[in-house]
Amino acid sequence: MCCEHLICANCAGPVSEGRCSVCRSHKEQMHRSGAMSFSTMAAILLTMLVAVAFLTATLH
Ligand SMILES: [Zn+2]
Repeated sequence: MCCEHLICANCAGPVSEGRCSVCRSHKEQMHRSGAMSFSTMAAILLTMLVAVAFLTATLH
């Protein structure tokens, strides 16, 4: 898990346990942003591959 070492400022418990609403929302936010950055990275990689393939096709 990405947030098991984080301590909540509201309940002073580990965020991964989700003791209060702040923990739960923070945990959800972390996971959502993590998933978003992965898809963004995949999209950038795919765009680069397409660009390289296009350049190779036009140059030769
Ligand atoms: Zn909390």
